[in-house]
Amino acid sequence: MFSWFGMVSFVPYTKVHEFAVWLKEGRLMGSVCKGCGHTTFPPRADCPECLSAEFAYKEWSGRGKLYSLTTIAAAPTGFEEHAPYRIGLVELEEGGRLLAWLGESLPAAEATVGAPVQVVPRILGEREELRVLYSIERPGTTWGRSPFAAG
Ligand SMILES: [Zn+2]
Repeated sequence: MFSWFGMVSFVPYTKVHEFAVWLKEGRLMGSVCKGCGHTTFPPRADCPECLSAEFAYKEWSGRGKLYSLTTIAAAPTGFEEHAPYRIGLVELEEGGRLLAWLGESLPAAEATVGAPVQVVPRILGEREELRVLYSIERPGTTWGRSPFAAG
């Protein structure tokens, strides 16, 4: 439910409604299971470890290390005009890995495996669910506007 071609995530406004509200403020909230302490990002209402539905939100810094990087030359439908583009997997400081686009603040030469990076949420649109992509930026980069937003 949190991946769509691995690039854009759709966040349903159901069990983790607050997550969408915080994302719109540029904040990355994960969840901590009250049953076993397992942490997840994005947040999950139902713990994948112990199946408890009791959880608390915790803010992720967005800091992490670039775990892998790849260039997408043959883009899926809807993203052809952006190809070729680069996406990477970021190992988040607080736990979890997130697939994200390579943002404009991070020059290709600095985007190497193991490099410290910052993940920033960028809201693309909102209907019944929030449409968000994460971009990999220089450490310290905060909330940014979507490069694909209209206007
Ligand atoms: Zn648990």
